[in-house]
Amino acid sequence: MKILLLGSGGREHAMAWKIAQSKKCDQLFIAPGNAGTTAIGENVSIGVNEFDKQKDFVVANGIDMVVVGPEVPLVNGIVDAFRADERTANIPVIGPSKQGAELEGSKDFAKGFMKRHNIPTAAYETFDGTTVEEGVAFLKTLKAPYVLKADGLAAGKGVLIVPTLEEAEKELRDMLGGMFGQASAKVVIEEFLSGIECSVFVLTDGKHYQILPEAKDYKRIGEHDTGLNTGGMGSVSPVPFANAEWMKKVEDRIIRPTVEGLAADGIDYKGFIFFGLINVEGNPMVIEYNCRMGDPETETVMLRLKSDLVDLLEGVAKDDLDQRKVEFDERAAVCVMLVSGGYPQAYQKGYVIEGLNEVEGSIVFHAGTKMADGNVVTDGGRVLAVSSYGKNKEEALHKSFTEAQKIRFKDMYFRRDIGQDL
Ligand code: ATP
Repeated sequence: MKILLLGSGGREHAMAWKIAQSKKCDQLFIAPGNAGTTAIGENVSIGVNEFDKQKDFVVANGIDMVVVGPEVPLVNGIVDAFRADERTANIPVIGPSKQGAELEGSKDFAKGFMKRHNIPTAAYETFDGTTVEEGVAFLKTLKAPYVLKADGLAAGKGVLIVPTLEEAEKELRDMLGGMFGQASAKVVIEEFLSGIECSVFVLTDGKHYQILPEAKDYKRIGEHDTGLNTGGMGSVSPVPFANAEWMKKVEDRIIRPTVEGLAADGIDYKGFIFFGLINVEGNPMVIEYNCRMGDPETETVMLRLKSDLVDLLEGVAKDDLDQRKVEFDERAAVCVMLVSGGYPQAYQKGYVIEGLNEVEGSIVFHAGTKMADGNVVTDGGRVLAVSSYGKNKEEALHKSFTEAQKIRFKDMYFRRDIGQDL
């Protein structure tokens, strides 16, 4: 099978690594890819939102399957664009339709979906520019802290959690006044939930589903979860509290109702579902849905997925996912992100990365890197994901921290407390 994978981050490098291990994969292209993916497949210089160029490439190269890494092309309707073109209508694109991607693209849509299908989530109301005063009145019915969410995609920055009613009212007015542009034309206000978070991943063909290894990610830049939010500073799998009993609750109360709800609503969804969950006194509740894999969770989930990923993706394409088998690696896996100094605020790019050849005990996935004059150089805030196996998380973390120190680039930073709260 010839596969085209779309994206350029650590998530896509990890997916490429896993796809390339499959006997079913004859050739792998990554568009646009990064300096790491060149070692696994062939990078193609086409952007993730350039649907026409992607379709031309798929036709010209006889591609059998397209796998979409990030959310933006899905929310922009890549699946529908391929279906609408008779040349590519029958090429499977792993990901939901534009309507299905609204689970991530619109928080109001996702909350409405959960309410309709009785899926446990925080109580909420949605407001727009015409209902600002109603929004303020709703805030007064809630307890601090207050959770305000821009309805649309805001690159992970659209959620505000504020301590006082006064600030919440101000933020609501600012958000509806255009703070996040069109993304905050509507604002979801919801009840604050207290607990530990966990990311659960599922593949679905629209009828059946398979549960992949779960993971926990670390979003803040500073140790002990302090400072600004980032794309993710590391991840750990398995998550100790996600034991068989808890996962059964997740499956019965959340996963099955979601997959059945999508089908009942007539929503075409064949791809990954990422459940952002929170454990509230032993009960899982949904914080958010994403319509793709997580980053940096993929950099541990792919290590723990023993089964052939391409076989599973083929199950999605052929609607027989129930016939395929998911096996987990018994070992623990962790990922530690090496980031550019200054990230998630302003940072420099283009620094030469040294020491990559010295790494032995870990797998290094590239996130923000590129080749320049024969060197691998930094090309983003999150630069490299150092992923390791271990007989337990402590052993895996020890490996990642040891190997991370062999890698050098100017102003490199990483968190040394990943996994220590579990
Ligand atoms: P991401 O960057 O993960 O895509 P997002 O911008 O789509 O995030 P959410 O995941 O909905 O937004 O919220 C971001 C974070 O805010 C969550 O991971 C969680 O830590 C916190 N959060 C969101 N909703 C709540 C809530 N109701 N109660 C407590 N914390 C919450």
